[in-house]
Amino acid sequence: MSTVFFASAKVKKLERNASLPAKFIRLLDALEFGEKIKDKTVAIKIHSGGGYGFTTIHPLFIRILVEYIKAKKGLPFITDIVAPDARRGYTEEVFGCRFIQATGLRDTDYFTVNVPSRYGIKELELAGVLKATDFLINFAHAKGHGNCGYGGAIKNLGMGFVTTKSRIAIHSVVNTKPYWNQSKCKYCGICIKNCRSSAIKFNEEKKLVIDFHACVFCMRCVFLCPQKAIELEKTNYEVFGRALALSAKKVLEQLKGNYCHINVVLNVTPFCDCLGMSSPSIIPDVGILGSSDIVSLENVTLDLIDRQKFVDGSLPGHLRLEKENGHLFEKIWGKDPYIQVKEAAKLRMGQLEYNLKEIS
Ligand code: SF4
Ligand code: SF4
Repeated sequence: MSTVFFASAKVKKLERNASLPAKFIRLLDALEFGEKIKDKTVAIKIHSGGGYGFTTIHPLFIRILVEYIKAKKGLPFITDIVAPDARRGYTEEVFGCRFIQATGLRDTDYFTVNVPSRYGIKELELAGVLKATDFLINFAHAKGHGNCGYGGAIKNLGMGFVTTKSRIAIHSVVNTKPYWNQSKCKYCGICIKNCRSSAIKFNEEKKLVIDFHACVFCMRCVFLCPQKAIELEKTNYEVFGRALALSAKKVLEQLKGNYCHINVVLNVTPFCDCLGMSSPSIIPDVGILGSSDIVSLENVTLDLIDRQKFVDGSLPGHLRLEKENGHLFEKIWGKDPYIQVKEAAKLRMGQLEYNLKEIS
């Protein structure tokens, strides 16, 4: 059983020292990585987000982390595959250290690793910056995700530390299992007209394609097709979460245990920060969680999110609580968010069981 430290967003006393940034520093102490980073390069992997998004990790927490590393005589730098956006306060001046683009300015700084030919992926191009990293702090924002229900620490590495080519390969695994029978289809368009998510269409080659990022697995197209030409199963989306875990494992293998993971569970939106927009939080702020075990951390993060009261009226656009049962993210996206976590456990990246220790 691995320990996960938890700094709650709740403030019990009206004192600065009882607020989340102060507890965050105590959480960093509890993670005990300070002794390991003297004179070492420390990569802080963030997700910079994009466009009009304002719910990525607040720069104050990034600055606190940088100052903490410097106080321990480490050599911090911030990294991501995309450049930071000054409009979110993401600048080197605010960070207090330099930013290094993970795969280089032209996405050409990478190295290739072989993977055991699962889900149609045979190799992955990992960020070159890993070669210059002595210690990694995987600093992730926990939120929903259209493809797999949830994006946190596993996604921050599995999707956020590879080249565009590998990201496309991971996204494409959802197409490995056929879901449309062309010989039965009469091109009536009933499925397209009845998809509230606009996730289904015919492409230029007149083939029916489903965008699994937008699809909420409501099964309306399956039930309404008069020809029974569409068949959807959990396996159509599950492979994405599994591929994500596999990619994250390959990233962590490069670091030989020199890492820790932090999930910021604030401003939890139903979709990924790369969508380039934000919407209201779907639950009250939870806090910040940290552990050296990515599996325990992700498991407890999902458990805590599901225990919060859903904020009525917080879902944007056509999204709604589609399902009655399952995790909150599954109710929204129709996809079990624990798939990637269980896969990571299967890949021996950590343990599902956790011991949650609250930071006072
Ligand atoms: S509803 Fe069925 S038959 Fe009609 S276009 Fe869609 S897949 Fe084809
Ligand atoms: S399962 Fe629902 S959301 Fe997905 S493509 Fe079919 S109708 Fe659209």
